[in-house]
Amino acid sequence: MNLKFQTPTGMHDLFQEEWDYFDKVKKACSHMADSYEFTRIETPILEDTAIFEKGTGANTDIVEKEMYSLTSKGGDRLTLRPEGTPGVVRSYIQNGMQNQPKPVKLWYFGPFFRHERPQAGRFRQFHQFGFESLGVADPIIDAEIIQIFYNILKELGFKNLLVEINSTGDSQCKANYRKALMGYLRSRQTGLCTDCKRRIKKNPLRILDCKEEKCQRIKKGAPQIVDHLCKECHDHFKNLLEFLDEKGLPYNLNPYLVRGLDYYTKTVFEIYEDTEDGKQIGALAGGGRYDDLVKMLGGKPTPACGAAAGVERIAAILKQRMKRPISKEKITEVFLAQVGEIAKKKSLKLFEEFREAGVKVGEALHKDSLSAQLKIADRLDVKFVLILGQKEAIDEQVIIREMKTGNQDVVDLKKAVNEIKKRLKKSI
Ligand code: AMP
Repeated sequence: MNLKFQTPTGMHDLFQEEWDYFDKVKKACSHMADSYEFTRIETPILEDTAIFEKGTGANTDIVEKEMYSLTSKGGDRLTLRPEGTPGVVRSYIQNGMQNQPKPVKLWYFGPFFRHERPQAGRFRQFHQFGFESLGVADPIIDAEIIQIFYNILKELGFKNLLVEINSTGDSQCKANYRKALMGYLRSRQTGLCTDCKRRIKKNPLRILDCKEEKCQRIKKGAPQIVDHLCKECHDHFKNLLEFLDEKGLPYNLNPYLVRGLDYYTKTVFEIYEDTEDGKQIGALAGGGRYDDLVKMLGGKPTPACGAAAGVERIAAILKQRMKRPISKEKITEVFLAQVGEIAKKKSLKLFEEFREAGVKVGEALHKDSLSAQLKIADRLDVKFVLILGQKEAIDEQVIIREMKTGNQDVVDLKKAVNEIKKRLKKSI
């Protein structure tokens, strides 16, 4: 039998090089989370299917077409999470976070799953990080969420960032706008793509999101939601823009930005790089306010705002623009070479002593030839090599060889760690 197993379509193995970039992104998130006092949450990868149907929205592409859903052996309807917000909200309600001081600030970083058409930069298993702030209606929260994502991207080296922003109003404003939009679209439906023809009745706002050129053209003359905002939503949006002005965050009002998910109320935003390249790449981060979601999932009415960003997309750009980020802990500082049986055995303990002392030691204990080991040391570009030969092992000594000069000293085995630390100028 000739079995050739492969990763499922749209999913792939992640190797160290990818993780080095992912870790860089995660570090920037974690750094920002500490500054703005968000705490980490990791919700289960499987959630009750209903939280996405009710939350993300039954008529969205994610729920209609892209979910990996299953019925468990116990009969539960479960779904591999396609996005982070509904799970965080479920956790907020389940763990009684309504009773905690507001806002409750949570952030996450992990894998998500969407059964999308395979295409460049879009995967069926991908990673997102997200920040969610629950419990406060004030637009100062929206401004903080936008600032956090802006800062993370800036810390990662992105330049010319631009926030595209809009308000989709509350459920009442949205209902009024839907009517106006449906009226406009009905008379033009022959010009829309097949999907959008179907969307007119079920979810006309999604048509504003359609990437088909003919739909984009029709969109250009459509009524704008900002003209249908009630006073409260209008003031919220106005205040938010004033906060962004105050912070000096560059934004562009985009009257047709709605984003693909049903739960957004008032603010929606995306962050792009404002260059030709950046527009091609698409949004680096996106989010908005979701004041109705907690109630929709069974909690007390709770205003909230959050956003998410795709890690693969950001990491791919970093990979093109910067040298591979290797954390200091991964850089080998010293190499331990050994010759002979006694030396090999003594090396085992010596290696552990160095590791415990926080010195990163390279080794090739499976090799016997000194020259083969020195070749590896050379490749690792270490400053010092410790050579433990037969004689040194018997005398409880070790040779320290400085690679640059070729100078060698013999030191007591017991003093080797301290001596190397001194030479590497590490605190003992
Ligand atoms: P969304 O949750 O659809 O608003 O997407 C937020 C970000 O997640 C996007 O800007 C993408 O970078 C990323 N993203 C969404 N879907 C995928 C996917 N299938 N593959 C890779 N990245 C994705």
